[in-house]
Amino acid sequence: MERETLAKAYEPGRIEKKWYDFWLSNGFFRPRIDPDRSPYVIVMPPPNVTGELHVGHALTMALEDIMIRWHRMLGEPTLWVPGSDHAGIATQVLVEQDLAREGLTRFDIGREKFVERAWVRAQKSRRAIELQHHLLGCSCDWDRDTFTLDEAPSKAVRTAFVRLYQKGRIYRGERMVNWCPRCRTALSDLEVEHQDTEGHLYYFRYPFVEGDGFLTIATTRPETYFGDTAVAVSPNDERYRGAVGRRVRLPGTGRDIPVIADEAVDPTFGTGALKITPCHDPTDLQVADRHNLPHVNVFNLDGSMNAEAGACKGLDRQTCRERVVEEFERQGLLDHIEPYSHMVGHCSRCRTAVEPSISLQWFVDTKPLAEAAIEAVRSGEIRIIPDHFTKVYFSWMESIKDWCISRQLWWGHRIPVWYCSDCGALTVAVETPTSCSGCGSARIEQDPDVLDTWFSSGLWPHSTLGWPDDTEDMRYFYPTTMMETGYDILFFWVARMIMMGIEDTGKVPFRYVYLNGLIRDEQGQKMSKMRGNVIRPDDAVARYGVDALRYALTTGNSPGNDLSLGDAKLEAGRNFVNKVWNATRFVLQATREWRATSSDTRPAMPAPTDMTDRWILSRLNRLVTSVRALMAEYQLGEAERQVQEFLWSEFCDWYIEFAKLRMRQTNSAGAAGGSGSPAPYLVAVLDAALRLLHPFMPFVTEELWQTLQPTEASADSVSSIMVSPCPEARPELDDPVAERVVGAAIDIVRALRNARAERRLEPQDRLDASVFSGAGLLGQLRALVPAIESLARTHIQRVADRDERTGATNTERAIVLADAEVVVSKASADEAGRICAQLEKEAEATRSRLQAIEARLDDAVFVAKAPADVVARQRDLAAGLRDKLERLEAERRDLG
Ligand SMILES: [Zn+2]
Ligand SMILES: [Zn+2]
Repeated sequence: MERETLAKAYEPGRIEKKWYDFWLSNGFFRPRIDPDRSPYVIVMPPPNVTGELHVGHALTMALEDIMIRWHRMLGEPTLWVPGSDHAGIATQVLVEQDLAREGLTRFDIGREKFVERAWVRAQKSRRAIELQHHLLGCSCDWDRDTFTLDEAPSKAVRTAFVRLYQKGRIYRGERMVNWCPRCRTALSDLEVEHQDTEGHLYYFRYPFVEGDGFLTIATTRPETYFGDTAVAVSPNDERYRGAVGRRVRLPGTGRDIPVIADEAVDPTFGTGALKITPCHDPTDLQVADRHNLPHVNVFNLDGSMNAEAGACKGLDRQTCRERVVEEFERQGLLDHIEPYSHMVGHCSRCRTAVEPSISLQWFVDTKPLAEAAIEAVRSGEIRIIPDHFTKVYFSWMESIKDWCISRQLWWGHRIPVWYCSDCGALTVAVETPTSCSGCGSARIEQDPDVLDTWFSSGLWPHSTLGWPDDTEDMRYFYPTTMMETGYDILFFWVARMIMMGIEDTGKVPFRYVYLNGLIRDEQGQKMSKMRGNVIRPDDAVARYGVDALRYALTTGNSPGNDLSLGDAKLEAGRNFVNKVWNATRFVLQATREWRATSSDTRPAMPAPTDMTDRWILSRLNRLVTSVRALMAEYQLGEAERQVQEFLWSEFCDWYIEFAKLRMRQTNSAGAAGGSGSPAPYLVAVLDAALRLLHPFMPFVTEELWQTLQPTEASADSVSSIMVSPCPEARPELDDPVAERVVGAAIDIVRALRNARAERRLEPQDRLDASVFSGAGLLGQLRALVPAIESLARTHIQRVADRDERTGATNTERAIVLADAEVVVSKASADEAGRICAQLEKEAEATRSRLQAIEARLDDAVFVAKAPADVVARQRDLAAGLRDKLERLEAERRDLG
């Protein structure tokens, strides 16, 4: 009697929540600290609290859950720390959009109210994200759930800042930064997206101050000319030899600026004379600093023009540009305008064109941090999977620039620096000070800025484990084992965790970095709302179940490679689950008696004697060895594919079919479940295969595994497949002979089935065949002949040694296999005639379909008007039909 009966059909919705609650309430996600064993630890990349999880998160969560469940079943103390990220600028922009709908800005409600609203939003999103993790089956330890703005990580952030400051690795300085005029904050280079933009190149004439004539310069940004402090030419440019050293007038400003020579000027761009605007272009700033030129900023923080723009003061950038061009034209100083497309940086959060600006910001001196981080990977202390990203990592780290960590936002970790209005000293402290560290004055005020989100996420592996405190978690679980994330944030995030982890703790934050690819649709297109091809994980789960979604995301997927996801893959996942479900139903029913007679602890599996039992146990052994090796190398997708293939093909399609035949025989002999019964092996192999599959498809495997467990054991002990041991290979069950014999039998059945199909035989039609094999195999193969006959619906007239085989006659066909040869009777003349006629008919139908499609493709109007994908589908269809036609014709030739 099984523990519970298995429903007829697999309904994911019925079992998923039940098992997640069961795991959670039994504390299976919580690790036990065991000083004698080293733990396996993953700290989850914290999703942003800006909305729900998308399918990319589902991939990350599936991969991490597979790793975690696998290592838990290996018996390691396993910890997966969940969490979420406050996502500074991203959340702030959303709150601002909420406000905008009410006709308000953040300045209308003030900082305190704004932060309150952001908290409400964040908490709501956190809860939704947590529930989605439950839905996906994530076996993380919710007792350790952390939010980047929680007290503990906040303390870590301030501590890290203060220490870096005291070491001189954090400084405040005026630098060129990317400024988003809408968000009114500095952005890191990584928060800027460069887009090809159709613009213009304006040719302006700057008159010489002394003498006649002018210099013509080309610019894409006329409005910045108020900030010009020089015109530069290349030192080798013959055209301007006489101009260097003279001065030109900036029209309408009353300012004169020098003409200088600098190597940075590209003589082939525009006229070869470049206006130098130090405050609004990074290259110009470098030129200006080489020549000691003044800096003139022309923008307000919101991107409007400041007083330097004279009459244009207060205008926005675009209006000012138009006004400047008109003015140059009016004065006859506009040479001409050309269309020109160039890259323009945009804020990745709000899409506003970014303004490179000089401002006072906080920076981390990253060079020394990067050196240690490079060394950690070079020495192999951290291994990046796949390996080819290591090179990318090095090249990025070697050219790293100082990291601007201050943001002029309200949502985030406030910079732990207080300014004294009496003596001007800075107080930099972990705990909020009440007085100036320099003069003791109470008139101190905290820096209004917050830290870049990536500063707190850079501390994530150690801040979640309790650093800077000396906690048990920190001592036992740090360094963590694995950092799994998308390859697109290797620099954004992974590199920073390595730098900050080593800097703060003296140890690497993790041993492995596993980079997963991006998800595309079935056509290989990136998923986006605009394209309408987004698959929401919740929708996929509702339609196919979690296990099918996880299967579709991970089977055959290899690290670092993008993968495509669509209904076909999700359906394949569901079909596989159904297959395993039905196989288990069969096993339960077929082993009912055996399971009823066994005692509370199952008797040890008897040594197998039947060839197919020996075969399946040996194949299982091979699978276990292979899967363990693949998992150790993080080839998760291939491991899963092999488990699937074993279950689907070897177990379901062959072993169960062999077992059915044997049981039919013993049943008729009245010896069900007796010695020689496949029952113990059916249960043992399925049990092991389910355990191998569990990390990939946690829900269905738990449901099925539970039904296989002895009833008696369930009374007072709670067991779960997720804490059951991972199957181990048993070398004594390796059986090359059985693999060869059953392998040959399977090949023979396949060959005979093909022969039947080619002759278009109906199930009741008889096929005659002979089997020849080597002397070594023959005796054992003979025992499988009844099974072969039954599975291939073939009458085997003769089984003999290969040496005894005489050449095939005219009416026979020989099929050579690896370990055997099969001779089948050919179709009789009558039969051949019948098949020919059938082939003819099929060919005719195919030809007329093909003609119809070709006619449509020849129609120029159709090809021009129909959407490209419709035309492409018609072309594919035509190609497929042409192939089919060729195949039919070849088959016909073979017959004649
Ligand atoms: Zn912005
Ligand atoms: Zn002071």
